[in-house]
Amino acid sequence: MKMKKERNLSSELFIESKKLVPGGVHSPVRGFKGLNTTPIFINKAAGAYLYDVDNNKYIDFCMSFGPLILGHKDSDVEQELHIALERGWTYGTAEEYSLKLAKYIIDKIPFIEQIRFMNSGTEAVMTAIRLARGYTKKNKIIKFSGCYHGHTDSMLIKAGSGVTQIADASSKGVPSGVVQDTLVLELGDLDQLQKTFAHYKDDIAAVIIEPLPANNGLLIQDNNFLKKLRELTKTYDALLIFDEVISGFRVAFGGMSELLKITPDLVTYGKIIGGGLPVGAVAGSKKIMQMLAPVGDVYQAGTLSANPLAMIAGLATLKKLNDNFYENLNANSTEIKNIFNNFFNNCDCDYNLDETLEMINFKSLFWIIPKGIKITSIKDIPSNISRVFSNLFDILIDKGIYLAPNAYEVGFVSIAHDKDVITTLNNLLRRN
Ligand SMILES: *Cc1c(COP(=O)(O)O)cnc(C)c1O
Repeated sequence: MKMKKERNLSSELFIESKKLVPGGVHSPVRGFKGLNTTPIFINKAAGAYLYDVDNNKYIDFCMSFGPLILGHKDSDVEQELHIALERGWTYGTAEEYSLKLAKYIIDKIPFIEQIRFMNSGTEAVMTAIRLARGYTKKNKIIKFSGCYHGHTDSMLIKAGSGVTQIADASSKGVPSGVVQDTLVLELGDLDQLQKTFAHYKDDIAAVIIEPLPANNGLLIQDNNFLKKLRELTKTYDALLIFDEVISGFRVAFGGMSELLKITPDLVTYGKIIGGGLPVGAVAGSKKIMQMLAPVGDVYQAGTLSANPLAMIAGLATLKKLNDNFYENLNANSTEIKNIFNNFFNNCDCDYNLDETLEMINFKSLFWIIPKGIKITSIKDIPSNISRVFSNLFDILIDKGIYLAPNAYEVGFVSIAHDKDVITTLNNLLRRN
């Protein structure tokens, strides 16, 4: 007999939460907008599993949207955090924890000579952009539709429509003065990129891109496009900023930059670099990084920047990411993809998915889309994707499988999704 999971306590808590907090949540996607299910309140997690307040257990494929590459509550990270906690949790002055993390990263990623830690990916991007403008003494930034760079004003800009093609804010509250300095282009459109550079010649401070766009689905780019982007930025004396907040330490230790053998001028990190505690970082050559205060005149600061607990969780996490680790993680990700695709291909009508779906992946990142289409830009995403996803989400959640609650979010596999979890997943998705 199929037992539907009860989530009464979650439903009650959501009602209460909505009274106290806008939409009941502290980050929009947690609000389960467009889904039939209301937000699930979690009270603990371990390994690959989430446990909700109603005592349901789920295999977690959201993993806090990326940071938890080791899974929840990894024992090595936990042990380091315990030791650190006994000493204190913020000092507001120089300490050795951030030095150790900086050294570990700089030793391993060749183009990074200096790094600065802050509290979120958004802050990292904000700083990288200010740094690029300060360094080049230019104002305009090019970004691409379908890439997400956090919620700083200059990045909440969408492509324009109509003849003018003037960009537009994608959020209310972004001033028009900010909008005019962000140019929004199509991913993969080399012609448009070349024309934009030719037109704005001396005005472009930087191009920012997720080299593996993974915030509006998984929009895998042609290597040639990224190589040309590197060449063009050099030609026009603009900086290339790789936003590797998701892809850094995920697809390889050195992120997409390592895989593609493309060296950006600046890189932004977040998510994995803090091992699940709040961190962001901007890194690059000493020449550019020295522009930051207190050496240079580009201002950036943070009361809780380089928080010792976050630094320790980050270092304990990064220390485990060797070649063998990535091999296992990627092999398990392929197995998980095959199990899902087997499930989708044999979907019977009682599942009411009116569309055959497919899981695609890039290493340990995955995305679920209608079968047989290639999606490399947001223009390729079918309009019914949210409706189909909503049905799938309900089916999976009742089986005890938790996906990030939105069709445009990717899924994450962690090293805790091991053989046992894969066997469990296979049983949960087996048709009988
Ligand atoms: C998550 C993310 C950000 C924003 O990071 P926050 O820590 O949520 O502020 C920026 N860029 C990319 C590519 C991201 O994935």
